[in-house]
Amino acid sequence: MDNATLSGVRRLLAEKGLRPHKGLGQNFLIDKNILQKIANAAECTKNDVVLEIGAGLGSLTLYLADLAGQVVAVEIDKKLIPILQEVLAARTNIALISGDILALDWEQEIFGFLKDPRDRIIICANLPYYITSPVIFKILEHGNRIKRAVLMIQREVAERLLAPPGNRNYGLITVNVNRMAEVEMIARVSRNCFYPSPEVDSAVIRLSPRSRPSILVENEEVFAELVRAAFQARRKTILNVLVSRNLADRDKAMEVLLALGVDPNRRGETLSVEDFAQIANRLS
Ligand code: SAM
Repeated sequence: MDNATLSGVRRLLAEKGLRPHKGLGQNFLIDKNILQKIANAAECTKNDVVLEIGAGLGSLTLYLADLAGQVVAVEIDKKLIPILQEVLAARTNIALISGDILALDWEQEIFGFLKDPRDRIIICANLPYYITSPVIFKILEHGNRIKRAVLMIQREVAERLLAPPGNRNYGLITVNVNRMAEVEMIARVSRNCFYPSPEVDSAVIRLSPRSRPSILVENEEVFAELVRAAFQARRKTILNVLVSRNLADRDKAMEVLLALGVDPNRRGETLSVEDFAQIANRLS
């Protein structure tokens, strides 16, 4: 049963009288090179537990089952479960969970597969794009239980996560994610590698949660307010951002910036994660 080619995917769906469900982000991968590349980027061994979010017709699941010790495959669409059960039947190292990844209790239902509570899982997914942000924030929230996450996401979001300071794609999400995880580009993927083709191009990224944030933030609220303010007024100087948002009076703001060697006339959008953290720490 070929679940990773255009004709195979069409046939599997037609046999059950199904069509891809757009609202659930069902764009199935039909390119074996990309599937292999995603699975390889997870760098899993037979000692690893891999969580796949959105198993679809099981194509990526099979590649992962070849490489990992245990695969936990989650799929929300109940209509796909009978297909998955057939496609994955011969494998003994796949646990299929019928459910919504955002509604599961990760501690019990996912990390529970780890034999040693000190072990960490690997995540690998061709994500349904409508849950990209909540999934990324879940990964950061559980960063100490996750080794790495290889995710197919919208290319535009990948570019935002990877943008350097000063770049037009650099923003709030770049700072918040990079503080907690290392982000790498694995591959740019054309929309032609999916059935049906999505309206946007895609990219595979790898997120590796940091064992501790790249720099310590003393007061999360001040940091969050500072970063939000800087990106809401991208064209303002950092000095004006601090003063206009009442984060400091002019004298204090000058003192903090000069002490850190940050030019007060720089725009907030040119500051690095470390700059933001250091300014926030001095303000609090
Ligand atoms: N892994 C398959 C592949 O690569 O061809 C399918 C990927 S498709 C982009 C996304 C899959 O995620 C769909 O099968 C969809 O039904 C499923 N899905 C959507 N929302 C979900 C959720 N909240 N929890 C779990 N699975 C979800």
